[in-house]
Amino acid sequence: MSRAFSLARPRFLLSAMRSADFPRAPAFAFAGRSNAGKSSALNVLCAGRFARVSARPGHTRAVNFFAVGPSDSNRHLLADLPGYGYAAASKSERARLSQLIQTFLRDGEIAGLGLVVDCRRGIGDMDEQVIRQVVPREIPLVIVFSKCDKLRRGALIRAVAESEKKLSQTGAENALILPFSAPQKTGTQKLRAEIIAALR
Ligand code: GDP
Repeated sequence: MSRAFSLARPRFLLSAMRSADFPRAPAFAFAGRSNAGKSSALNVLCAGRFARVSARPGHTRAVNFFAVGPSDSNRHLLADLPGYGYAAASKSERARLSQLIQTFLRDGEIAGLGLVVDCRRGIGDMDEQVIRQVVPREIPLVIVFSKCDKLRRGALIRAVAESEKKLSQTGAENALILPFSAPQKTGTQKLRAEIIAALR
């Protein structure tokens, strides 16, 4: 009998600053540019419980892992990657974070990746680098097209088409673009279903 996942009860597992610390269990990972809406998306997915479990000093400087499987098992994880492109961080800190993200994308056990992209900005250069790393590993990719409440329907359709073009140029034509809004909860059910399917 398959046992229930509970995204509504994430449990903080560990913070990793180097590959030796990465857990040996599949994780559905979340990445994105700083301010893209990653924390808001995770919070909605986890029924408002994510902000509390992730509020730890220094957590934005590491890859943070949360168990979402049955309460007696740490075999099904969410991984929260540090946001990239944070202008206020020092150059050396940005380089360290970029290295950490690349190491995780290369070596981590990744069941799926949710790449949070502000739909008004579209897929940027740093997002593209992330995509190029997961494509050869055939990791299922969901573009969490955040803040879709900020665009009118026609503009959203154009933004999706633009990003689809970019994905096919990057070899990621199988990726799913999922319009998402944290305040309106648009896309939440579909994203939850994608995570659960990837982690099963
Ligand atoms: P992070 O740095 O990627 O974790 O981004 P946050 O989740 O902290 O969000 C950055 C800002 O965007 C905050 O002011 C959020 O309230 C806002 N935001 C995030 N998601 C949405 C969304 O879906 N719609 C709208 N309108 N604002 C959002």
